[in-house]
Amino acid sequence: VLVAMDLKDYIRDVPDFPEPGILFRDITTLLAEPGALRYAIDALADKVAGLAPDYVAGIESRGFIFGTPLALALGCGFVPVRKPGKLPAAVFREEYTLEYGKNVLEIHQDALGTASRVLVVDDLLATGGTAAATAQLIHRAGGTVVGFGFIIELTFLNGRARLPEGTPAVALVSY
Ligand code: IMP
Repeated sequence: VLVAMDLKDYIRDVPDFPEPGILFRDITTLLAEPGALRYAIDALADKVAGLAPDYVAGIESRGFIFGTPLALALGCGFVPVRKPGKLPAAVFREEYTLEYGKNVLEIHQDALGTASRVLVVDDLLATGGTAAATAQLIHRAGGTVVGFGFIIELTFLNGRARLPEGTPAVALVSY
């Protein structure tokens, strides 16, 4: 049985990062605490195990940190969704708009078997643009997104509204 922890105790708030007026939720302080790190992985695994994914797709970079141990806990494979120009073989590419400017994410075209069930993982859900672009990549690679898992959700940005309708999204901590 998992004893509940308040992960907010381990998340550091950094004002004015990366620019003035933004309150950045910093998970490096959580990563440094072995009990909190283990709890974050075990609690997320508990919440998503029923979705029975074949793969965890982690979004560079902090989605790699949480996604890989989560994949191990669930007995799945791990698939990296990367910033442009990093993946060596043929890729699918998605551009999406941010508040200021554009971002690009890529996935290997052959990363997923056909009909594979994929759980998308990142540290934090904000406006949902990153997770929605990732879902699009998984779809193009032939996979089915069965859910989204986050450590943190910024509920006031309503990122859930940008995710595919009806696909479960779980977060351990909400602000
Ligand atoms: P979205 O595309 O607006 O949902 O932004 C989510 C992406 O931005 C994720 O990859 C997060 O890692 C990153 N991000 C945005 N705000 C924060 C924050 O306060 N802390 C950590 N990561 C953040």
